[in-house]
Amino acid sequence: MDKSWDPVCCNNGKSGTCWACSSGTLAFVTSYSWSDGTKQSVTWVRTCPDFWSLGNDAKLTAGFVLYHELVHIMSGAGDGYGNYSKSAGVKLAANDSAVARLQANNYMLYAM
Ligand SMILES: [Zn+2]
Repeated sequence: MDKSWDPVCCNNGKSGTCWACSSGTLAFVTSYSWSDGTKQSVTWVRTCPDFWSLGNDAKLTAGFVLYHELVHIMSGAGDGYGNYSKSAGVKLAANDSAVARLQANNYMLYAM
């Protein structure tokens, strides 16, 4: 396994490799699952226009976003049901603990 990752700057929109950038998306990574269940991650962390519009007071947020994306690359963690708030994570843990345990945002919140 290649142990490095590379940032990809998608500050000009959603063309080409930046296809998943949309309003409200800060960054994204991609992966593929093989028929034997093995996950193969693409080691590009694509940072979207909304990431690059974060103000100076949000530099810490940018770091947490990158950490969140690296959790995706290095584990089987997904995004649960797509709500990234702390309160949604707490509700998810109470109602669907199996999904909550495999949510990248929960690992990020733990690291905070
Ligand atoms: Zn995610």
